[in-house]
Amino acid sequence: MVSRVIPVDAFDLVIFGGTGDLAKRKILPGLYRRFMAGQMTENSRIIGAARADLNDDSFRALVGEAIEEFVPKDRQDAKIIAQFLEKIAYVSIDATGEGGWAKLRGMMREGVVRAFYFSVAPSLFGAIAERLHLNEIADAQSRIVVEKPFGRDLASAKALNAVLAKHFTEAQIYRIDHYLGKETVQNLMAVRFANILFEPLWKAEYVDHVQITVAETVSVDGRGAYYDKSGAMRDMVQNHMMQLLCLIAMEPPYHFDPDAVRDEKLKVIRALDPVKPEHIVRGQYNAGGGEGSYIEHSEDPSSKTESYIALKVKVSNWRWQGTPFYLRTGKRLRARASEIAITFKEPPHSIFDDASGWRENVLVIRLQPNEGMELQVMIKEPGPGGMRLMQVPLDMSFAAALGDEADDVPDAYERLIMDVIRGNQTLFMRGDEVEAAWAWTDPLIQGWEARGDKPQGYDPGSSGPEDALMLMHRDGRRWREIKG
Ligand code: NAD
Repeated sequence: MVSRVIPVDAFDLVIFGGTGDLAKRKILPGLYRRFMAGQMTENSRIIGAARADLNDDSFRALVGEAIEEFVPKDRQDAKIIAQFLEKIAYVSIDATGEGGWAKLRGMMREGVVRAFYFSVAPSLFGAIAERLHLNEIADAQSRIVVEKPFGRDLASAKALNAVLAKHFTEAQIYRIDHYLGKETVQNLMAVRFANILFEPLWKAEYVDHVQITVAETVSVDGRGAYYDKSGAMRDMVQNHMMQLLCLIAMEPPYHFDPDAVRDEKLKVIRALDPVKPEHIVRGQYNAGGGEGSYIEHSEDPSSKTESYIALKVKVSNWRWQGTPFYLRTGKRLRARASEIAITFKEPPHSIFDDASGWRENVLVIRLQPNEGMELQVMIKEPGPGGMRLMQVPLDMSFAAALGDEADDVPDAYERLIMDVIRGNQTLFMRGDEVEAAWAWTDPLIQGWEARGDKPQGYDPGSSGPEDALMLMHRDGRRWREIKG
């Protein structure tokens, strides 16, 4: 299978926070890979902009080190790296000061796409947006890319939207949710809307329930004080998991067009019911496996922030009336695994004995590890032992389907940055979507804060707190096993 690389227009991409962790781990190595693939063309440039007192050469050295550290060895080619580094420049800038902006203005070229990646703390978004405007660095075609977290509640998200809207139109603002850049997540739309097989069954009449799991094995050690202000609800559910839920639950858009897709996602968020307190389970990991507990890592002995959350969510519309969506995410769990599982109902009448071994059909969309999809179907158990059924997967792993080219499938950041240059906003969150997601999230958080709810402890390496198992058991259902 040959994947087509379509080069994007020439660009000047300015990375504010170009010396930071995200730039080094994801943005710069990702751009190198797009350059290697021929998608970023010779006449494009990347300009690092940060506080550090570097020059072009010392910044290039930093980028070279980032490539060495974060690009797989078999994709490191000395000649291509040298050519890539020639495209790189640096300007020392303080987002809140005046130095450096005139120099940046002078570096901008006419006739190429201008994009500005705000890979800095959100508190700096306003200062940067304003200076780009006042110094006439951004033009009407320029794009800005902003990172998460986009607010910590509705009020702060509205304030951020307002600050950006002062100088940029919605069509110029690209709010990153890297989950939307994953190959499988986009494939979800292809599977739903390019096949006749699934869509007729994609409703409460045939879907028993949906499970969305984002499990991590890592702790918050080293960034506990920061994480403690956020927690699993703000860090994962309000953004990434909500987006996954939207893609599963949304109606078919009239066209694969950025606003048509985002309109449909927004309708899902608006259709979410408030979640009852008994349908929310929050947890904190205990000490174990040679590591400290959440409380030790958070540095706050009385912290009530959750490192795990499970929710039973209801989408109140015609399509989903009666189909619960179970969401769970947490740190220090059994395995690093993200998946969406759609469990279908029983056939209306079974012609087989109760003892036949019937199980439900499940469509599993794996985000990590081993991105791919799997449809669990029933077949006859081979052999002469009568009609006994067994569940087998129809498996489509992208690694297997794409062969050697699987390594060249762009990662989420690479794809999203190329979309920014192409001017395609389909995989970016619109301002009203983000606000609607916070409008649903805020009362839940305020509710447990007002009640003084304490998260339940869970052991590292487990699948979460006991109460989360009960959340499903009470409904006669079970979570899927968390497998890496
Ligand atoms: P970082 O602390 O490693 O880097 C911050 C960067 O901002 C540095 O380059 C620093 O020089 C620059 N900076 C700080 N103050 C500045 C100022 N006044 N003027 C100009 N530059 C200034 O942070 P990071 O981890 O790279 O994160 C950057 C953004 O991306 C944050 O909003 C973060 O929430 C978000 N993010 C990071 C990750 C990640 O994996 N690191 C993941 C998702 C989102």
